[in-house]
Amino acid sequence: MDLRLYDTLTRQKKPFAPIDPQNVRMYVCGPTVYDFAHIGNARPVIVFDVLFRLLRHVYGEKHVTYVRNITDVDDKINARAVRDFPNLPLNDAIRHVTEKTAAQFHDDVKALGCLQPTFEPRATEFVLPRADGKADMVTLIKQLIARGHAYEAGGEVLFDTVSMPDYGQLSGRKLEDQQAGARVAVEAHKKNPADFVLWKQSSDDEPGWDSPWGRGRPGWHIECSAMSAAYLGEVFDIHGGGLDLIFPHHENEIAQSRCAHGTHAMANTWMHNGFLQVEGEKMSKSLGNFFTINELLETDKFGSKSWGGATLRLAMLRTHYRSPIDWTVQRLWDAEDQLVQWSFIYDDIVEPLNNLPLEFVSVDPDVEVVSALLDDLNTHRALDRIHHLSLAARKDSAKLPAFLSALRLLGIELFAPSNLGADNAGQRELLGKIEVLISARKVARANKDFKESDRIRDELTAMGVVLKDGKDADGNPITTWEIAR
Ligand code: AMP
Ligand code: ZN
Repeated sequence: MDLRLYDTLTRQKKPFAPIDPQNVRMYVCGPTVYDFAHIGNARPVIVFDVLFRLLRHVYGEKHVTYVRNITDVDDKINARAVRDFPNLPLNDAIRHVTEKTAAQFHDDVKALGCLQPTFEPRATEFVLPRADGKADMVTLIKQLIARGHAYEAGGEVLFDTVSMPDYGQLSGRKLEDQQAGARVAVEAHKKNPADFVLWKQSSDDEPGWDSPWGRGRPGWHIECSAMSAAYLGEVFDIHGGGLDLIFPHHENEIAQSRCAHGTHAMANTWMHNGFLQVEGEKMSKSLGNFFTINELLETDKFGSKSWGGATLRLAMLRTHYRSPIDWTVQRLWDAEDQLVQWSFIYDDIVEPLNNLPLEFVSVDPDVEVVSALLDDLNTHRALDRIHHLSLAARKDSAKLPAFLSALRLLGIELFAPSNLGADNAGQRELLGKIEVLISARKVARANKDFKESDRIRDELTAMGVVLKDGKDADGNPITTWEIAR
């Protein structure tokens, strides 16, 4: 099974070869916990969950380590703590904000069908040297200073970008360009405009830790360098996040980790998901098109109804992870229709089979679904194939396990029979009628009775059903359909 992944650093799709197949190691930058996560933040969580599942399938469940951190020290968190809990001491207020937000994040991503990462370190636990000897931020910064890659100035410790000859490889930004482009006055204490903060001083009313450079707090980038080294070592396999993290965050993580450890790489594959926009526009609070995961799941703010976690996940995975996604109400309706169709197949077959629960499905996932995912996570192709499997399962219940195990590889849960029950009785009837008409049309077409097949198509069109004729993987004609909206 050859996995190929697109690597942002070398700008090519390349065969994936883990450093140690017994322990495949992946790090993904996690949330800064000051507010509800929005639906754009859900994208990397879902995409890398699919990759985690695929790696577990290929290398074995016990042979993959996935780390996704929680950033619980950040100036946005401080501001939120002061605003929301003005009467509490700052540290208590911060704890309230971060614990509440992290719990919310966990609820959200669980509803989206995501597995827990193997480790989920919190930045505040990795600031100072630790009793267990795992990597920490203060020690990393000391190493950078000792090796001539960082300097103290103006109460801060800064990374000296000029000390790293190949700084800027990930984003393709050359240091000279950045200097030439820096029209704005360089902050006086910086040697170079591109130099970035590793440590900054804290005032008495800001969170701080005692360090060799006084009481202060870490810069954002150093957090991930410390937490990834703590759990995955100095060089590991995959580092991921959204496209916006390439610069400066990941560029600077690479600079810190490589220069502190004296290695030629931090991670061997750098993966970035594309951006999500809403109804054709960049999501922003001021445009009123900003939606949290929780709002989509629990309120009717988007499309006048609430959406299931599996619907959101399916809607996300229908687009390849590196392409932009336009998040529209139509997209969610389409995904929901698909899930309802699939769930009815399951329900119709499984109920007579005595409610065989999903966990009893033990067949290996379909090879074509797996090979689509092995090709740089081609979830779009995998889902097309799953649809073919669903049609096969509808005809022959022996094919049901293949369909279900493929869904499980993508982490997509069908609606429980009880959720399809009373509310959907009308829809079930409609689906039954559609199926009967489609079968009758197939017979008419096989008999070359095109008048009858056209009449049936028109009848379906009048019901709002759009037919799509195509071929399945074996080249046999099949007809799929969707409800036009
Ligand atoms: P942040 O909390 O802004 O650091 O974002 C957390 C994660 O969500 C990062 O991996 C971001 O790249 C990603 N992200 C933020 N906004 C979007 C978006 N609109 N579309 C896709 N990914 C996003
Ligand atoms: Zn990071």
